[in-house]
Amino acid sequence: MRIVILGAGYAGLRAALDLARFRREQQLDVTVQLVDQYPYHQLIQLLHLTATAGITDQKSIYQLDQLLQGRDIERVEGRVTAIQPLERVVRLADGRALTYDRLVLALGSETAFNAPGAREHAFPLHNFSHAIALRKHIVSQFTRAASITDPTELRITMTTAIVGGGYTGCELAGELADWADDLCRQTGAPRKEVRIALIEREGHLLPHLGPWASHEAVRRLERLGVNIFLNTPVTQVEPCLLRFGDGRILRAGTIVWGAGVRAPALLAEAGFPTDRIGRVLVDRYLRVSGQAVVFAIGDCAAVANGRGGFLPPTASYAVRQGAHLAQALADEARGVAPRPYEPVELGEVVSLGPNDAIGNALGVPVLGYPAVMLKRGIEEYYRATIESA
Ligand SMILES: Cc1cc2nc3c(=O)[nH]c(=O)nc-3n(C[C@H](O)[C@H](O)[C@H](O)COP(=O)(O)OP(=O)(O)OC[C@H]3O[C@@H](n4cnc5c(N)ncnc54)[C@H](O)[C@@H]3O)c2cc1C
Repeated sequence: MRIVILGAGYAGLRAALDLARFRREQQLDVTVQLVDQYPYHQLIQLLHLTATAGITDQKSIYQLDQLLQGRDIERVEGRVTAIQPLERVVRLADGRALTYDRLVLALGSETAFNAPGAREHAFPLHNFSHAIALRKHIVSQFTRAASITDPTELRITMTTAIVGGGYTGCELAGELADWADDLCRQTGAPRKEVRIALIEREGHLLPHLGPWASHEAVRRLERLGVNIFLNTPVTQVEPCLLRFGDGRILRAGTIVWGAGVRAPALLAEAGFPTDRIGRVLVDRYLRVSGQAVVFAIGDCAAVANGRGGFLPPTASYAVRQGAHLAQALADEARGVAPRPYEPVELGEVVSLGPNDAIGNALGVPVLGYPAVMLKRGIEEYYRATIESA
């Protein structure tokens, strides 16, 4: 059985590593191809740290060739441009075509630039190159600011506006507030001119964590010097300028767009049924609705949460769906009926700078130092599971 996995992120890599292990331990008659546009696996959860020099670049990526060494997984580097389920073919940008017996869609999500001008004038933070580009831009703004004498120009240059109060926005705002001290020392930019604005359309931050978390996140980020604008929809982005629904404007030398995600368009273009943000609808077995041999996991899959909605796009669900599907495909190869996927809510932790975090662990709120330690523990555990699988 030839299994092709599209995407070597949290979900796809886990599925590939587990399948290779099952193949070795149970002598399964399967081959595994893992396709990604990059030669590395990205720890997307750490991109805000790469963007603010909180970690060295090499800590947020793993070279796939090293990670997959000796693991009986064929790595294919290439950008998927089309999927033709009737022919069971995947097409890559360089003209190559891959055929499959089972196809796993694990292509993640992309930034949803859902306001005019956002794509052109704001920085996304959704992959490693975005993080590097954003960091370079911020350093150049601070460096330039050191020699600006005009107060208005200085104010604009030293303002960073982050749109979207989810993971990306809160984690980046907290980290940037901390980095600003070092950055001002290194570049000579005036510390008192640093302004970080976090702008959210709804009346709360971090919607997945509930109202208590929003209240705490606002309080803690404000303590770090972040200005929070709630109930503030952005209607237009122009060079160094945001326009809000109530007619106000904000001028900022750096604009970051973290207001929403959507699944890659090629999934709907392939004819798969999708939800309103392009995620592929799957059944209890993570099988794409109406498809016999195509499965979807992670951010690009709309997986029912059992309460009438869909699971949130988190790394934790992505990894566990990858593991579940690997087991199900191994079961199928052995002629055993696969079990349905039952989502378990383990919780989430969001960092608010290097020394603070907020979240819930199995439904119990965690804050401050224990949350920071929990987040570090989760990261170390993840690293151990992919390095030693
Ligand atoms: C800044 C930021 C902070 C976050 N923080 C947290 C957090 O603290 N906790 C948490 O649980 N979640 C967090 N998330 C969300 C989490 O990162 C995602 O839920 C997780 O990455 C989803 O895993 P995935 O495997 O579905 O997709 P990904 O990890 O995005 O992997 C998708 C893979 O598909 C590849 N790919 C995509 N399109 C193509 C194509 N056309 N051709 C070939 N390859 C392709 C990509 O290169 C990538 O390797 C954060 C996200 C961001 C952006």
